[in-house]
Amino acid sequence: MADCLFCRIIRKELPSRPVYEDDRVYAFEDINPQAPVHILIIPKEHILSLAETPPGRDELLGRLLMVAREIAREKEIAGSGYRLVLNTGRDSGQAVGHIHFHLLGGRRMSWPPG
Ligand code: AMP
Ligand code: ZN
Repeated sequence: MADCLFCRIIRKELPSRPVYEDDRVYAFEDINPQAPVHILIIPKEHILSLAETPPGRDELLGRLLMVAREIAREKEIAGSGYRLVLNTGRDSGQAVGHIHFHLLGGRRMSWPPG
């Protein structure tokens, strides 16, 4: 997608602070962190949201989770705990139309979310 914000970040047309990259996945620091650790984990393939994910992406979605888990370990929040957020659609507040997991940690979080 030519004008997708996160696709442009993947193509390095826009700057980001990389945390992890492989042939299918990119992870980078959120520009407006909501916790001491706030990292976005995205597929390089442009997918609008979980609701819009085409069939055949089961392994890719699982891969995003396993990358999040590994980053949490490297950022030393695996022991204290962390939260993964996948906003999907209007009511969730999803602002960027390229599927992304938020990895949040480094502070105590409340429940229910706002
Ligand atoms: P969501 O509301 O789930 O769509 O989350 C979008 C996230 O993208 C927000 O946490 C923003 O702070 C973050 N964000 C927006 N633009 C950028 C950017 N250029 N670099 C890094 N993070 C961004
Ligand atoms: Zn995109």
